[in-house]
Amino acid sequence: MELSEIFYSIQGESSFAGLPCIFIRLSGCNLRCSYCDTKYAYKKNYELTVEEILQRIKEHTPVSLIEVTGGEPLLQNETYLLLGKLIKNNYQVLLETNGSILLDKVPKDVIKIVDIKTPGSKMSDKMKWENINYLTPNDEIKFVITNRVDFDWSVEKISDYKLMRYKIIFSPAYNIIEPRILAEWIKEEKIPVRMQLQLHKIIYNDKMRKV
Ligand code: SF4
Repeated sequence: MELSEIFYSIQGESSFAGLPCIFIRLSGCNLRCSYCDTKYAYKKNYELTVEEILQRIKEHTPVSLIEVTGGEPLLQNETYLLLGKLIKNNYQVLLETNGSILLDKVPKDVIKIVDIKTPGSKMSDKMKWENINYLTPNDEIKFVITNRVDFDWSVEKISDYKLMRYKIIFSPAYNIIEPRILAEWIKEEKIPVRMQLQLHKIIYNDKMRKV
């Protein structure tokens, strides 16, 4: 498989935020979001087989929370094999995906964290809305908000697609919008979404890799 990095850190961007977590960052992405903070993952850093990845993460035993992320991890066919093997090895597996690839082949025990790309990302037309049909109540949907247009658009999509059945995360785009502004909009709208800051960027220097 083509990888950007494997590292051990604190989960920062979901309802699992704060927990120790092993990250498998696969390389390659089919989108180019305006605020992308992982451009370094567009290109392959190195290759490992699925078995080699499983060996590598054993170094962090007994940590059992794993996040497979990217780039866009579902671009590689072997990702489905990797996800299945992680589940079989009793890991709790999070899959962070950008919403543009059909989720039909993702193993059912994987917890999907699906970005819905807002207009501010300049990639909102790439969303595959039929992916909603493949979500379970354990899955999470993330909206990265860059401005008021994104906020209103996201609230509308939540209503149109009845997304409150899932865990919804609103995250302020880093260094683009003040978190306090987003907090006020959520309070005014009285919408029960979970506002989330990127915890790893608060704990560590935001320029640091492998965090
Ligand atoms: S989907 Fe993720 S990795 Fe790809 S361009 Fe957007 S933010 Fe960057």
